[in-house]
Amino acid sequence: MTERPKPKLAVWKFASCDGCQLTLLDCEDELLAVADQLDIAYFLEASSATVAGPYDLSLVEGSITTEEDVARIQEVRRQSKALVTIGACATAGGIQALRNFGDVEELLRIVYATPAFLSTLATSTAIADHVPVDFELRGCPIDRRQLLEVIGAHLAGRSPVIGSHSVCIECKQKGNPCVMVADGTPCLGPVTHAGCGALCPTFSRGCYGCFGPAETANTPSMIAALEATGMSAAEIERVFHTFNAWSEPFRSGPVPVAPPARRTGRPATVTQPADAGKGPNR
Ligand code: SF4
Ligand code: SF4
Ligand code: SF4
Repeated sequence: MTERPKPKLAVWKFASCDGCQLTLLDCEDELLAVADQLDIAYFLEASSATVAGPYDLSLVEGSITTEEDVARIQEVRRQSKALVTIGACATAGGIQALRNFGDVEELLRIVYATPAFLSTLATSTAIADHVPVDFELRGCPIDRRQLLEVIGAHLAGRSPVIGSHSVCIECKQKGNPCVMVADGTPCLGPVTHAGCGALCPTFSRGCYGCFGPAETANTPSMIAALEATGMSAAEIERVFHTFNAWSEPFRSGPVPVAPPARRTGRPATVTQPADAGKGPNR
């Protein structure tokens, strides 16, 4: 009897720091089992040897920041039966989306000696703003247990079991005292997506929202609670505008933000498809 071919896994990088791809390599105890079940066909961070598509499962890290990215993600989508975005860059535009709030041409002038050599879009946007996405895995970086759940669910042909509740639920499950109530320490746990196991509050620190917004984030109440800890409007704006700054409702939670009007001259305008911004588990 001929053996069935293993499903092919591809891991793609766009604008990112590689930290989420590294999470897969960090699955030291489980990596051999994953490799036993999947053909790791394209994963440049692990090996320069690649196998041509199509691929059964693509993990996509990073955000769309150049005209080349816009074209390449379409090709990745065409080659992928299932496409899962991993991390804050891929699901929300990442820290590099802070450019979306300003004038990119001015930033280029300030930061680079020869900005004429650069070709960039004025925005950093999530993968789901450009192609249909089958699942979004949040975090900066992602959580390895959640990544293994996504891969295992794909192999089993079922949906990943990943809750969309807030960090507060995980915090209470751990029996942590609330740093906001006990110490008046600002904490974004009530509006932040679960996944890290309430890591920061477990060490008596406030959550700063690296997993992005929870499904039903009540930012007006969160802002009122932050104000009660003595934070100024500018401090509140800064605390929301980090890794997931461009995700709703963090984008317009502290201050309403208009979409950027100006783009850099050279690259074409990002085309937003009809399903823009409607990832399946946003
Ligand atoms: S989400 Fe964070 S860890 Fe992952 S690629 Fe982006 S910056 Fe790196
Ligand atoms: S410490 Fe933060 S995450 Fe934990 S219960 Fe309080 S507000 Fe929620
Ligand atoms: S507690 Fe908040 S900031 Fe800390 S790891 Fe979890 S989601 Fe990120």
